[in-house]
Amino acid sequence: MIFRSIIFLISIIALTIISIEEAAYAQFIPLSPPRISNPYCTIPTFQYDNIPARGYSTIIPVPGGSAPIIYMQGAPFTGNPELLHFALAHECGHQVLGHIVFNHINPFAAFMTVAEEYAADCWAAHAVMQSNDRAAIQAAVADANSFPAPTMPNRVKNIISCAGNIEASSASDFAGGNESSAFCQNLQKTIEAAKGQFAAIKGSLLDGQTFQTKAALPGLTCSLDINGNGQDSYSTCETGDLDDDHLDSNYENLKGRVGTCLGGTWAATPRVSKSGKTFTRFEKNGAPGYVEVHKESVRHKGSIDVWPPV
Ligand SMILES: [Zn+2]
Repeated sequence: MIFRSIIFLISIIALTIISIEEAAYAQFIPLSPPRISNPYCTIPTFQYDNIPARGYSTIIPVPGGSAPIIYMQGAPFTGNPELLHFALAHECGHQVLGHIVFNHINPFAAFMTVAEEYAADCWAAHAVMQSNDRAAIQAAVADANSFPAPTMPNRVKNIISCAGNIEASSASDFAGGNESSAFCQNLQKTIEAAKGQFAAIKGSLLDGQTFQTKAALPGLTCSLDINGNGQDSYSTCETGDLDDDHLDSNYENLKGRVGTCLGGTWAATPRVSKSGKTFTRFEKNGAPGYVEVHKESVRHKGSIDVWPPV
């Protein structure tokens, strides 16, 4: 009997806790809202259409304090689960990066700065690339491109760059095999294209002078900068990390990868730029142009530049 009473008491307490939680959420969302799974963070995520944006991260009052919560609309993601992946991760990013200030009077009054949007995009790009979800990156880029806002090309560039950075920092990127062969093929293609002002690999315009390149090197973020007069074009492919920890190893790996691809007929010379940055220039006897691998300590990145013939 005593056991039964204790179990009964525990049940009552458990029910009470559940109903208090539900009541707290019910203040801002309908009772029993569909909770949806969010693989990118442990914050409770609900589908709820009555929010001021497609996705919304906020903090709501609960007994004894406050709790983070994420809402997602349903319709914008119908038939586009890849975009939902990125959007879920983006909202997690706002929470994890501490962008949300608790407003107990109106939890829907939280608005983000542009810098915070970029940071949440970058966090999301890293998060989805942890499961190699390139489709989510593509969906986010297509989505951003569908808005006519002038800031969107830069937002797209940021997403691509952040996704590229996580690719470059994974060890398997430098392990050789098929990916290495694709890397080499595309590097050769880029060098060949340099003879024709890169026209053969020029993709869509990202901003005023930067183009996507069709010859992306696996593990790197590539773009093509056209500086105006047609003579000073170059292709830039960047790898990098958000901290200094991988700067040296990225540079050494990249140098080795490029050297292996170009073979013994290209001479590698270590150099230091006027601003003190380390780089290696690969030159082929008699061939115009060169390939450079840079260790850019200011931007915490390594990069490859392929210069056209002069
Ligand atoms: Zn946002």
